[in-house]
Amino acid sequence: MIIAIDGPAGAGKSTIASRLARKLGYVNLESGAMYRALALKAIGKDISFDDEAALIQLARDSRIRLEPTVGGNRTLLDGRDVSSRIRERDVTEGASRVSVHPAVRQWMVERQREMGAGRDVVMEGRDIGTKVFPSADLKVFLDADPVVREKRRLQQLKVKGEMAPNVADELRERDLRDRTRTASPLVPAQDAIVIDSTDLSEDQVLERIEKLVAQIMQI
Ligand code: C5P
Repeated sequence: MIIAIDGPAGAGKSTIASRLARKLGYVNLESGAMYRALALKAIGKDISFDDEAALIQLARDSRIRLEPTVGGNRTLLDGRDVSSRIRERDVTEGASRVSVHPAVRQWMVERQREMGAGRDVVMEGRDIGTKVFPSADLKVFLDADPVVREKRRLQQLKVKGEMAPNVADELRERDLRDRTRTASPLVPAQDAIVIDSTDLSEDQVLERIEKLVAQIMQI
């Protein structure tokens, strides 16, 4: 069973995907963490986020692994746990920029398919329903009003004690890049169920998705 959860940043995908996976006993794979790991490696090697050829070579020379654990997901880059580091601002910006390159995306999609193959998975990202698993059993596109998404992101950063002076601008920029890139732009799959979480609590979103899962399991 493959459940794809796509949508823009700040729509609540990560929390919902991880809660859903825990409830169902499925593996939760965050595809964005892979783009983040590649961006981190590019930073370390001083490779430009715009240099597609160097980035694809870098990806081929890297071991990027998502390791679901009871306490949450770990991201391993060449055997090193980079789970916290990849959430920092420079990497966030880098992930958004490396992900526009078609060859990088192709490499990521192949790895993501390998990771999901033969397992019960909740995978979240931007192109899971459209590209990675076009025949996923359930596709959810989780959206929310941009102002609400910005507020949520600010709140998350506040909880972590991080300063976020330009969070709204950065979020808008990343959104625009995701939606307008030529390779797998962020759009709901034709057969995705769109959930607008603007006025919904996390529990309400989860409840809706659980109902959809239950319906599918009955078929
Ligand atoms: O989901 P997250 O914010 O961690 O993803 C980091 C970046 O990776 C996003 O800004 C997006 O540009 C890119 N991404 C993508 N396709 C995915 C997952 C993430 O392009 N499936």
